[in-house]
Amino acid sequence: MKIGVLALQGAFAEHRQAFSSIGIETAEIRSRKDMRADFDGIVIPGGESTVQGKLMDALGLTESLRESVRDGLPVFGTCAGLILLAKRIANDDRVHLATMDVTAVRNGYGRQLGSFRTEGEFKGIGKIPMVFIRAPYVSETSGETEILATVDGKIVAAREKNQLVTAFHPELTGDPSVHLYFAEMIRRSRG
Ligand code: GLN
Repeated sequence: MKIGVLALQGAFAEHRQAFSSIGIETAEIRSRKDMRADFDGIVIPGGESTVQGKLMDALGLTESLRESVRDGLPVFGTCAGLILLAKRIANDDRVHLATMDVTAVRNGYGRQLGSFRTEGEFKGIGKIPMVFIRAPYVSETSGETEILATVDGKIVAAREKNQLVTAFHPELTGDPSVHLYFAEMIRRSRG
């Protein structure tokens, strides 16, 4: 199995480290030519969604990523990655890949209590540590989107077919269970 990690900005190295800790190979996606046909899945890391969105556009990556996800390539978006995948952003005029049927609220926890750590129940995994950094949350899901975790009544993890998103950063906790969950999603998608 080989996973491509979008490496334009943000916490991509930490995702590579998390996959490496469970024996899964990764490669960085920095340009269109890095979009290899042999990727079994892709990761869109946390960082700053506006910066990543602009870079994706400038590098001509938006369209090829969008097509791959629409074609069924498994994708895992964390934090800013969730925002980039959302079809609707409650407090932003523009959307980016817009492949997943959720509404994201950027900086959903305000600026004061922007960053915190907690533990929460993740459907199919159990209790896991969750690190939030100026995180978004999902205010609304529709279609076939399944809610996987909520914290204080806010949706912080969801899945729609081949797309998995978390508002928190599982790559910063040392607990690889969400990365394992994504690897299992990939295995099952192959049938
Ligand atoms: N606040 C950032 C944004 O709006 C996301 C923060 C993160 O990815 N840790 O893009």
